[in-house]
Amino acid sequence: MINFTGGAAVCGIIGNPVSQSLSPLLHRIFAAEEGRDFVYVPLHVRSRLKEAIAGAHALGIRGMNITKPHKQEVIDYITVKDPNAALMGAVNTLLWTKNGYEGYNTDFPGLLESLREAQIQIEGKDVVVLGAGGAARAVFVLAMREKARSITVFNRTEEKAKEAILPIAGELGFSRCRVAGLSRLEEGRKEDLEMLLPEREYIAFQTTGIGMHPDVEACAVKNRAFYEKIYTGIDLIYTPAKTRFLQYVEESSGGEKKMVLNGLGMLIYQGVISYKLWNPDGVILPKTVEKAKLALFEALQQEKGDGKKKL
Ligand code: NAP
Repeated sequence: MINFTGGAAVCGIIGNPVSQSLSPLLHRIFAAEEGRDFVYVPLHVRSRLKEAIAGAHALGIRGMNITKPHKQEVIDYITVKDPNAALMGAVNTLLWTKNGYEGYNTDFPGLLESLREAQIQIEGKDVVVLGAGGAARAVFVLAMREKARSITVFNRTEEKAKEAILPIAGELGFSRCRVAGLSRLEEGRKEDLEMLLPEREYIAFQTTGIGMHPDVEACAVKNRAFYEKIYTGIDLIYTPAKTRFLQYVEESSGGEKKMVLNGLGMLIYQGVISYKLWNPDGVILPKTVEKAKLALFEALQQEKGDGKKKL
């Protein structure tokens, strides 16, 4: 049951589309577990983002998440407070202040927290990234800040990958990155791959939308030779729970179990961090995180079954 009063703090999510968002469910669970007078609503903004932000501010909306396609444009209408958001050129969380909204990016710390929870360490490791879109930028910042040994990016459009990673690498003084076309992985024989990929075993992040429900048989790289030296595979997709990419990582293990992780933890922790920005006295207990994981998993299952989410 939805439980809030006329004095509730109001937050929401701006996107186009927005009806698929799991954030209203997530924040409702956080608020219910805390017994907080809080409401979080979907705000479908097709265009006129500037007016939407000004209107939300006038209405006193305490905080908002910003999702596709507005994460970059919103920067023009707010004050970016978070150095990582500035680096990534993307803001996904706004906090009301009397002088306007402040902007943050909780995707990077959300991903970091989900890796910590899974006890995956980046420091000193070689990192391979498939894709170089918005989500990949969180991986680039994470790998550089966490002192990866090297970062190798494969993207369909090599030029776009350079545009995405090189400014971040320049700003953070990270020189050990390489970029190549994704097709080279698919077409390459084992010897060619040895030239392209790190010498040692590596952690691989899958950051493209390929393989997401309903196109679950698809995978950014089907060449099994690519998977041999992956010892941990992370897919930012959270539906299905185990993408083809993660299945290929597991199947390449030759007996020894390889670690795989999907994007559900990242989604939940970016929400936790946003929620705490809006409610600085908020406490999200581990049992609440577990409850949220289960609820989101069930909502995703139901969405697959009948096309509707129970929100
Ligand atoms: P995006 O900015 O649109 O980037 C898409 C990336 O996929 C680009 O690198 C693009 O390559 C590549 N790509 C798209 N279609 C392709 C194709 N047919 N063949 C090869 N490469 C292709 O999207 P995004 O925001 O980064 O989101 C990507 C995925 O991450 C989505 O599945 C999203 O759900 C997930 N995500 C998860 C979380 C989370 O919390 N777990 C957060 C954000 C995003 P080009 O540069 O060549 O176009």
